[in-house]
Amino acid sequence: MIVRSAVEVVDPAASGTSWIRRENLAQQALDRAIATLGHPWMGYVGDWHSHPAPCEASAQDLKSIRSASRAYPRPLLLIVHRSGGVLDIRAARRGRSQTVLEVTA
Ligand SMILES: [Zn+2]
Repeated sequence: MIVRSAVEVVDPAASGTSWIRRENLAQQALDRAIATLGHPWMGYVGDWHSHPAPCEASAQDLKSIRSASRAYPRPLLLIVHRSGGVLDIRAARRGRSQTVLEVTA
């Protein structure tokens, strides 16, 4: 899996400690990105968001990606952009998650 683009789906109610994935807005944003970028292999591979502090993916983050992964036949990624430029990358498949890697952006 190669992540070359990330689509921003703004949650107007997001705070420094929480956000809600808006399914309809996310699908619309993904559809626009695919139409614009136009590669046949492009598609949804997971979610991303940023943390305003240098903390890793939260228990709620991991619960959410594990839950979402049950609806997809392929693994899903969760990318958390931590303060300080670190990307915390997790994968989940069929309800189980694991750390993939941490990289400094
Ligand atoms: Zn988070």
